[in-house]
Amino acid sequence: MPENSFDVIVIGSGPGGYVTAIRAAQLGFNTAVIEKDKIGGRCLNYACIPAKAVLRTADVVAEIREAGEFGINVGAPSVDFGAVMERRNRVVTTLTGGVAGLLKKNRVTVIEGAASLEGERQVSVAGQSYQARFVVLATGSVKRPIPGTQFGGRVIGTEEAWALPELPGSLAVIGSGASGSEIASAYARLGTEVKLFEALDRVLPSEDADISRLAERGFKKQGIDVHTGTLVTNVQSGELKVTFDYGDQTGQADYVVIAAGRGPDVEGLGLELAGVALDERGLIAVDGAMRTNLAGVYAIGDLVAGPALAHKASDEGVIAVEDAAGLHTHPISYPDIPRATFCTPNVASFGLTEEQARAQGHEVVVGKVPYGAVGAGTVYGDRQGMVKLIGDKRYGELLGGHIIGAKATELVQELVNAKLLEGGYPEVARAIHGHPTLSEAVMEAARALDGWLIHG
Ligand SMILES: Cc1cc2nc3c(=O)[nH]c(=O)nc-3n(C[C@H](O)[C@H](O)[C@H](O)COP(=O)(O)OP(=O)(O)OC[C@H]3O[C@@H](n4cnc5c(N)ncnc54)[C@H](O)[C@@H]3O)c2cc1C
Repeated sequence: MPENSFDVIVIGSGPGGYVTAIRAAQLGFNTAVIEKDKIGGRCLNYACIPAKAVLRTADVVAEIREAGEFGINVGAPSVDFGAVMERRNRVVTTLTGGVAGLLKKNRVTVIEGAASLEGERQVSVAGQSYQARFVVLATGSVKRPIPGTQFGGRVIGTEEAWALPELPGSLAVIGSGASGSEIASAYARLGTEVKLFEALDRVLPSEDADISRLAERGFKKQGIDVHTGTLVTNVQSGELKVTFDYGDQTGQADYVVIAAGRGPDVEGLGLELAGVALDERGLIAVDGAMRTNLAGVYAIGDLVAGPALAHKASDEGVIAVEDAAGLHTHPISYPDIPRATFCTPNVASFGLTEEQARAQGHEVVVGKVPYGAVGAGTVYGDRQGMVKLIGDKRYGELLGGHIIGAKATELVQELVNAKLLEGGYPEVARAIHGHPTLSEAVMEAARALDGWLIHG
């Protein structure tokens, strides 16, 4: 094969792109991945991973503050923010180094530079043309300001919020979706005065309403000043502070973080020239196998519809190249992708909320069990957590799972697995769970749906 010719070219090396490239190589394709910035994409370098690294520090400092409850006397902890950021950077480089190693191990060619589509299955990077039988677009997304605001100075996006030069004295976060809630919860526990604004009537507005209620209670306990149903306007960045209006008040903070939306990163990608069709939201239009309207060109991840999540991007990439290889693939059930928010309290969900299930006409049954109902909740010190399961009682179907409390982001997976394996809530209720684990609360919530709750 000529040097500039590949079976598969993947543009973008985030969790969508690099997983796609490795799967393509496994399938026997001669594969290249093109990256204009850093291997690992935004997820590893600026978003998911840095966020979780700093959140982990916030978890540790919070546990130290609560140590007295467990019989350990320590003084008040102090945060060395420089060291926190050094650890954050080490976590990032360890993981991005790992991805680079995986690409090499799988003989994926890495090409540095910004790529654009030149025509059907032809890609250009810095004046050099490359041909491929298949092209996978995986260029991710970029921050977008909310109407009436612009980034600049001390008005920052979520990626910058996880890379601040110093621990801010105060922070105003606009948007209490997953990213905004994580930022608010991390910085509040690190010692920053945090205001969290949400235009809708509750925090984490896409979660089940019961979960939002408990999350808001948890945020307030951390000292976060929560303002729901509140629009922030007139955001002005000064040299040392940002000022803004909310309701009939004026506020100020060291930084304002806009955590309320992103858009596809398609600048310079040449989509229009190549004739790639977009959907009504400006995302790349694809079918269930991630095919665009151009033969042999696929698009995945934040470029296409569905929740903007790293694991969704990876899965779509696997589907795309398996389709290219002629394997049997099936479309993703987007509502059943697990969603995780790593704030405290930890929040995770999959499937429908109670409200959505009722609106869709299901014969809804609801099981709610607090962590305190099972031994582990008390042993590990989280009795406030809750598992809420939504089912359809006609078939014992699991429609949705909503968990708030310690390890929620890990616990949700068993529900996703049960559903994938065509299990319903009666199966989760009867699966033997280890004792004492928080997963027993998941089992008990399934038993509650099935009408035989034992603990609770
Ligand atoms: C602060 C924050 C925290 C998040 N936390 C989580 C989380 O905990 N869990 C989760 O699942 N999701 C999380 N997300 C969402 C997640 O980051 C994205 O869904 C995910 O990164 C999408 O993966 P991707 O591969 O589509 O794109 P990206 O990760 O954005 O990678 C795209 C890559 O393409 C490159 N690129 C762009 N244009 C070109 C071009 N023309 N030529 C060459 N290269 C190009 C970019 O430089 C980039 O490296 C978070 C997002 C943010 C902003």
